[in-house]
Amino acid sequence: MTNARDDIVSLNFQEVKDLIKELGEPAFRAKQIYEWIHKKLVRDYDEMTNVPQKLKAMLMERLPFPEIEEVARRDSASGDTSKFVFKLYDGYVIESVLMKYRYGNSVCISSQVGCRMGCTFCASTLMGLSRQLAPSEMLSQIYTIQRETGERVSNVVVMGTGEPLDNFDNLIKFIELLTDENGLNISQRNITVSTCGLTENIKKLADKKLGITLAISLHAPTDDERKRIMPIANKYTISEILEATDYYFEKTGRRISYEYGLIDGENDSTINAEKLSALLKGKNCHVNLIPINPIKERTYKSSTPKGVIRFKKVLENKGINVTIREEMGRDIDAACGQLRKEYMDRQ
Ligand code: SAH
Repeated sequence: MTNARDDIVSLNFQEVKDLIKELGEPAFRAKQIYEWIHKKLVRDYDEMTNVPQKLKAMLMERLPFPEIEEVARRDSASGDTSKFVFKLYDGYVIESVLMKYRYGNSVCISSQVGCRMGCTFCASTLMGLSRQLAPSEMLSQIYTIQRETGERVSNVVVMGTGEPLDNFDNLIKFIELLTDENGLNISQRNITVSTCGLTENIKKLADKKLGITLAISLHAPTDDERKRIMPIANKYTISEILEATDYYFEKTGRRISYEYGLIDGENDSTINAEKLSALLKGKNCHVNLIPINPIKERTYKSSTPKGVIRFKKVLENKGINVTIREEMGRDIDAACGQLRKEYMDRQ
């Protein structure tokens, strides 16, 4: 599996300063260039109108811009959700989703081209992992959407295609750039990273002491049941995950969010709900119930609305903080990997 290529947008402010110095150019150019990229969101060197041509030519020779071209877009009838498919410099495609909430615009980004985690209900993993995304390619999804809509993005969720903690260093660099005051300056509190539970990297992330929200894709209350739908459960047990999330809470003070996708007849019984309650009892956490979005490659069905309410009630009665995920964009296949898959199938 190959990593991403280097480019100018993946450099942090210090790295741009070092580069400018190395090229023998005046120091103020660093801030100028960094702001063109991360505040004014330009797509290439040409757009940097107050930077001398000679310097732009030198930079171009050293580092390219990440190419990201919109090749498909679909808007929900209600207008609150838009799904984008972007083509990268090497022809790979990724997807992102824009969701307009009352409190602001949220973008769900991909962290890898494909995914190697193999969850059985997920469309993103069907063709495996092709390559890592560079920090710049995670950013560019947000930058392109912000530029295109002309509206500020205030929240970012790393819940699209890919396993973010399987692309750890690039994820950390991405968060650093996204929260930089010389860039979009998005607050750490407005960033959520979702993982299927790679415990070593959850601990590594905890040690960074960021203020971001960690979401764990749990989807089952016991290891045996989890193994049926998530191959990663063969590697990490639920108790190892909970130990890692306790550590995360201890280091960051951030409440953990548990994602539980409800699949009809698979993991949505009252007994499942009771086991889940017992597992999370006394923890400072939040459970997000997601009626599963069926994908055509599998036979799974979403729990019925009644089943979802029943499951939620059990958790509530045990004093667990629980919500049902707002269903947005189902009419445009906004679930993980579905539009991208459809686009690729067409090609
Ligand atoms: N790999 C990370 C992030 C990407 S998946 C993770 O596992 O968390 C983001 C979320 O979407 C996860 O909770 C995942 O389980 C869920 N998801 C994937 N496919 C889905 C589907 N068909 N319907 C509903 N949720 C789905």
